[in-house]
Amino acid sequence: MNGAAMYKLSYGLFVVTAREDGKDNGCITNTAGQVTTDPNRITLTVNKANYTHDMIRNTGVFNVSILSEKASFSTFRHFGFQSGRDVDKFADYPAARRAENGVYYIEEGTNAWLSAKVVDTMDLGTHTLFLADVTGGEVLSDDASATYAYYHANIKPAPEKETKKGWRCKICGYIYEGEVLPDDFVCPICKHGASDFEKIE
Ligand code: FE
Repeated sequence: MNGAAMYKLSYGLFVVTAREDGKDNGCITNTAGQVTTDPNRITLTVNKANYTHDMIRNTGVFNVSILSEKASFSTFRHFGFQSGRDVDKFADYPAARRAENGVYYIEEGTNAWLSAKVVDTMDLGTHTLFLADVTGGEVLSDDASATYAYYHANIKPAPEKETKKGWRCKICGYIYEGEVLPDDFVCPICKHGASDFEKIE
């Protein structure tokens, strides 16, 4: 098959947030989508390596904040390029409010948020797929929703001139220093796999 066909699939971009034992966390994802209207349900797929994954699996509750075209790269860096295992992403973050379910939503660079309650899960190997009822939500702005393509074309900074040799993550810019990138390599920053790396020439 032509692998490039997969790039024509369009995705939105979201901050997924969860809360467990008094600890809040959130991460960037492109894997939320509505599947039925009655009942109003969404699916969300999360890489098992993400700290947020375990929080959602354990609590069954999460929020999805929908990123808009006004979102800045700093929001992506804040939620996407560091792990909640290492830092408290909400310690000095002013643009978060709690929804009725007690979980934060993000009101900076977003146009709406949804609250969701997990009703079923499916083990996908590297990821878990959560099927969830939408239990709440609000519109925050009229700005257009950001797509994955829009992020790459307009929000992500252009790569700097590289002096290092190796492989660059096309998603976040992380550089793997080495001649051969292992097939099962996972970006330590954004958790994307080896197929999202390009060789630095
Ligand atoms: Fe990455």
